[in-house]
Amino acid sequence: MPVFLAIDLGAGSGRVIAGITDLKTLRLEEIHRFDNPGTDLPGGSFWNVVGLYRDIAEGLRRGVEKYGKDIVAIGIDTWGCDFGLLDAHGRLLGLPHQYRDARHEGMPAVMHAKIPEAEVYKQTGITTNFYNSSLHLLAEKQLGSPALSSADELLFVPDLLAFWLCGEKAVERTIASTSQLLDAGTGDWAWGVIDALGLPRSIFGKIVAPGTVLGKIRPEVAREIGMEGIPVVASASHDTASAVAGIPMDGGSDALWLSSGTWSIMGLETREPIRTPEAFAARCCNELGVENTVRFLKNIAGLWLIQECKRQWALDGDSLSYGEMAKLAEAAPSFSAFIDPDDAIFAAPGQMPKKIQDWCERTGQAVPQDKGTILRVASESLALKYRVVFENFCKLSGKRFERLHAGGGGIQNAFLAQATADALGIEVIAGPIEATSCGNIVVQMIATGHLPDLAAGRQLVRESFSFDNYHPHDREKWQAAYETFTGFIGR
Ligand code: ADP
Repeated sequence: MPVFLAIDLGAGSGRVIAGITDLKTLRLEEIHRFDNPGTDLPGGSFWNVVGLYRDIAEGLRRGVEKYGKDIVAIGIDTWGCDFGLLDAHGRLLGLPHQYRDARHEGMPAVMHAKIPEAEVYKQTGITTNFYNSSLHLLAEKQLGSPALSSADELLFVPDLLAFWLCGEKAVERTIASTSQLLDAGTGDWAWGVIDALGLPRSIFGKIVAPGTVLGKIRPEVAREIGMEGIPVVASASHDTASAVAGIPMDGGSDALWLSSGTWSIMGLETREPIRTPEAFAARCCNELGVENTVRFLKNIAGLWLIQECKRQWALDGDSLSYGEMAKLAEAAPSFSAFIDPDDAIFAAPGQMPKKIQDWCERTGQAVPQDKGTILRVASESLALKYRVVFENFCKLSGKRFERLHAGGGGIQNAFLAQATADALGIEVIAGPIEATSCGNIVVQMIATGHLPDLAAGRQLVRESFSFDNYHPHDREKWQAAYETFTGFIGR
């Protein structure tokens, strides 16, 4: 049976997944998992990209060992925004910085003095966020970076790793759309923004669509992994683009999705970017997807809050599983207090339960005393925050959505999935957990002629995984809670 290898790198861990398919169903098997710790060094926070390359090679070697000649292709997706600069000989000019690197500090003001944010949004469809490549490149320019001044080409992290695997340089469109330097309408570089920032045009190279076959693995890679001639596909290289490709939506009024993990990203799949003043005011972003789709989206603090409670309690000597935590939340009283999950106070790691208690105290609410109530406050508030974003999407798109398709590891939290259906008042269809790898593989299958299009890919995912349907309950109670919640945090 044909096998596709998906390399999926998150900003914490990475894995190589084999997708085994008879073209009617798809089965996933994790063949290698590894850490991806960012490293603070003098001069900044960096990614160990050579280490990632070594782990990828090890994953591919194991894949070849198990599946040999059945392997059809390889595709890579990663977190967004980060990039490497290369000289004219293809040599990497320094380690790529992490998007959390402090060099972005102060850069929004510098950038907006050169070009107003509203103008940047008109071109790129992206609001200014600390992680965008635009700010990090501007910081390099302000610092007089020798890497930037001698760079021949910029490659985003998945592009760089693909280049190292197959020797072909190209910038894939979905990952480029996270940079705030791509025109969301044309899919080409936003030259107006690039010029306004004084960045050298020459480093912004050829852009390719997701699903482009870049080339075959280099002979050196082939020797190392034990097989030659495997094509490397520029998949949907941004992990969110892959996740959304892997969530089986039908389009039209069906096209509201949630990628649920450390972050929750809610969005619409549309044909055209939405770059209106209202969309800008709501700080929604337009990222590009497979088959010329647009992901009109909003980032929401996600299961990070729950993750951090788990970590804190383990440090305090009480190690709970996610399943146990969901049960505690379920048994606690409902709507005892609310928090704004996107308050900056919750963004930094550490002391999450106490931060939740402090937030309630500061806003004159009942302070949750036990673990279950703390978790319930966090989960219900997250679901209500989804509703705020949902209402915005309905307003901005002029549509009323009947269901939400949710994918990612966070859908295993059934309590939150039910709360989401209750808060939004619509059905939630949860699945698949491994949406990102599914999307990565679907794009490879289209690129290699094993599937006709994205709709067929989503059908394959639909046939292959189980889905949980959550129907809304207790509408009046949740509506009243929504009114109270928006009283605390605004709409
Ligand atoms: P990432 O964005 O880091 O890739 P994942 O998609 O792996 O995140 O999702 C991780 C989140 O999923 C965790 O923070 C946790 O809250 C939730 N989760 C994982 N497993 C379970 C489980 N068995 N039950 C409930 N929630 C879970």
